[in-house]
Amino acid sequence: MNIKSDKSALKVQKGIEQPSSVNEDAVKKIRSKKPAAFTKQQMVDGILSGNITVLSKAITLIESTLPEHQQLAQQVLEACLLHSGNSLRIGFTGVPGVGKSTLIEALGMYLTKRKYKLAVLAIDPSSYRTKGSILGDKTRMEELSAEPNAFIRPSPSAGTLGGVARKTWESIILCEAAGFNVIFVETVGVGQSEVLVHSMVDFFLLMMLAGAGDELQGIKRGIMEMADAIVINKADGDNVAKADIARMEYQKALHLFPSSFSGWEPKVITCSARENSGIKELWKIIEEYRSYTKNNGYFFGKRTEQALARMHYAIKEQLFSDFYKNTKVENKLKNIESRIANNTVSSYIAARELMELYYASFKKSE
Ligand code: GDP
Repeated sequence: MNIKSDKSALKVQKGIEQPSSVNEDAVKKIRSKKPAAFTKQQMVDGILSGNITVLSKAITLIESTLPEHQQLAQQVLEACLLHSGNSLRIGFTGVPGVGKSTLIEALGMYLTKRKYKLAVLAIDPSSYRTKGSILGDKTRMEELSAEPNAFIRPSPSAGTLGGVARKTWESIILCEAAGFNVIFVETVGVGQSEVLVHSMVDFFLLMMLAGAGDELQGIKRGIMEMADAIVINKADGDNVAKADIARMEYQKALHLFPSSFSGWEPKVITCSARENSGIKELWKIIEEYRSYTKNNGYFFGKRTEQALARMHYAIKEQLFSDFYKNTKVENKLKNIESRIANNTVSSYIAARELMELYYASFKKSE
């Protein structure tokens, strides 16, 4: 039977065209609006309703150095803070080439297919020199970028490492307020940036390769100690057996570290981000960690500790930068440095001399 025939009961009637549920004019207006042209309330409402265009504009404000942008950004952030926190924050680190973006894409696709809303952010310590080497390249994570449930934002590209980290942290808050319930934060394995990422995520994942040697991979012992899981990537083709040996070796090495405050024993698994193997197992480990640490109270205790540590870090950074911007200190610095170089003053006495100059500048203005 030809069901395409007009007389068939199975023929699908064309029906009445429905208007789009999205108001195209409103979308155009929002897109063309400069971030600062929004009021605080428009921004907050947009973010809370999950509007990605408004979310991106708010992050642009956060990244801006203009004082009027910063002022609006801080107001928006404060309003969003109460609506944040409802996500699982996962940090990814490992040397360039280990497969971070490939794994983020594979795990990201796995999650978005399961209706999770995923935001991918980054802290790249080199980005303020190279203008964004991670997540900056548009060809990376092509499949995930096209996913409506995924939001990918490259590393902020200006400022000090602390400044870049702060902007990433503030972006996490906005993404959570916009309804993202899984946040990935990517960084490259070169030192201080891991410590910063570790201070803002619930679960810290270290990616390694089999047979490359820890030294070659630039992974310091301290970073291994921070890991909640180690993934040996590229366990495919000829590499499967080698990866498995590496897995056992790392598992043994981790046993030698003192046990962590959470009571969680870090896991080591192999995976192939390219061939999508080990992805399900990795997510299972992350979920196990979440329920384990939520049950023993560590999960939220750690978040509070992280928040306090961020405050102290911010104070340190602010004091440090105020100190070196102080004109009296600035004028004296060269002289003191040359005295240290000539061995005519010890570093400690020199430091005290500068500190006294700094404090004296406040006394005058009292
Ligand atoms: P990143 O610099 O750590 O983000 O690494 P990328 O994800 O860009 O991957 C670096 C290279 O390794 C790319 O050529 C990837 O295709 C490749 N790669 C990533 N994951 C795997 C994997 O599981 N197996 C194999 N064989 N290659 C992979």
